Amino acid sequence: MKVSIYGAGYVGLVTAACLAEIGHDVLCADVDADKIASLRDGVSPIYEPGLEELLARHASNGRLRFTTDLQETVAFGLVQFIAVGTPSLENGAANLSAVFAVAQLIGSHVADYCVVVDKSTVPVGTAKKVSEIIHQAIAARAAKIDVAVVSNPEFLKEGAAINDFMFPDRIVLGCSDEKSGKLLRELYTPLIDKAPNKWVVMDILSAELTKYAANAMLATRISFMNEISQVAEAIGADIEQIRLGIGSDKRIGPYFLNAGCGYGGSCFPKDVRALLSTARDAGVNMPLLQAVEHVNEQQKTVLFSKLNRLFNYDLKGKVIALWGLAFKPNTDDIREATSRVLCEALWVQGARVQAYDPVAVEEFRHTYGERADMHYCVSKEQTLEGADALVIVTEWDEFRAPDWSLIKTTLKQPIIVDGRNLFDPQQVHALGIHYYAIGRGDAI
Ligand code: NAD
Repeated sequence: MKVSIYGAGYVGLVTAACLAEIGHDVLCADVDADKIASLRDGVSPIYEPGLEELLARHASNGRLRFTTDLQETVAFGLVQFIAVGTPSLENGAANLSAVFAVAQLIGSHVADYCVVVDKSTVPVGTAKKVSEIIHQAIAARAAKIDVAVVSNPEFLKEGAAINDFMFPDRIVLGCSDEKSGKLLRELYTPLIDKAPNKWVVMDILSAELTKYAANAMLATRISFMNEISQVAEAIGADIEQIRLGIGSDKRIGPYFLNAGCGYGGSCFPKDVRALLSTARDAGVNMPLLQAVEHVNEQQKTVLFSKLNRLFNYDLKGKVIALWGLAFKPNTDDIREATSRVLCEALWVQGARVQAYDPVAVEEFRHTYGERADMHYCVSKEQTLEGADALVIVTEWDEFRAPDWSLIKTTLKQPIIVDGRNLFDPQQVHALGIHYYAIGRGDAI
């Protein structure tokens, strides 16, 4: 099937590569000419495990092409995916200008029947608005063309996106007519053939809300555990034991129960805010979700507060080694990452940061530029040189088995503040290292 995709970001690229992998002909367009040039050279603009291999394979067999020619893209696909960004506006609502620009483009140039798929995370009612924009633009040309708009929210996790797309827990489709539903079913057939119960069809408004509800639920679990971790720390209990204790309850389940230094990324913070905004517009108060966001904002400052207290509220001139800049492992995404909150607070206090991340350094440098109080290191060991303390922000696998004696001998003082609870406090203390984790009894 011929498929057009607008947006060559995390979602657009993964969708393009995976649809090519299951046999479709894909044309992926972006307004960012540098991104498209790099993709044509076989270089992925993002780090996502397995993506570059798929891009290379389907560039060479011709099933996946990239373009900046948006009109060519409208003319190409029987199915047209909108996968552009929907960042937060200042009031928390989703900025839909890119989504609507694509709708306008399709309406202005489409010549035949096609199905437009909202893949971007968009507020309830957006598919209706997209359909209106397309049909108004068609009517303005005095043309008569049938275009269906459906909602097909994406649930992939950065860092495991290819696997999530190829082996989904479910594919949610919101549609209001049989023809478009059948076409999308056909498109996804290789992914759902062996497990038809993964194909979840519903009305469009419910599909749009499902995506926000899923992310709000996951964010709620994290904030809940972070709140419990504060209690655990205050009374000397261990959040990791509590996590195992409650996660083994089938009604609760073990996932998304890790306490830490707050959630970030391009989805949870933005989607929680957008759902709050949708609810406000609908006259619904969501005190629970407001608290989820508030707890997370506070949790992102926990590492800084710990450091501040450890150094008696005098961080001026201190050198902090930092492991991990990405908002989570296996991605170079630093959007709303806790590392940013921490670095910005440390810089204000006159501290210097020596940071290492396996893949996110360039993104961080691109965002903050070169600065005297930020040194990017080529290895995790290099960050330790002359540092007063080590802080762990991202749970990359390569941080899980460190050279303890090197840490102890290289840091000026053997202090570790661990925002991801990677180690057993007793074992680290036994090595003669002062170890402060999240909710593990050692209050500071
Ligand atoms: P992104 O910022 O990585 O990519 C968006 C791309 O769209 C950019 O390359 C941009 O240049 C391009 N673009 C903007 N306007 C365009 C236009 N008019 N025509 C063509 N291209 C245009 O964003 P992302 O992380 O891929 O997210 C896209 C959407 O998917 C968002 O709504 C997001 O909430 C949702 N989503 C993201 C994830 C994730 O993990 N990143 C997961 C599920 C859903």
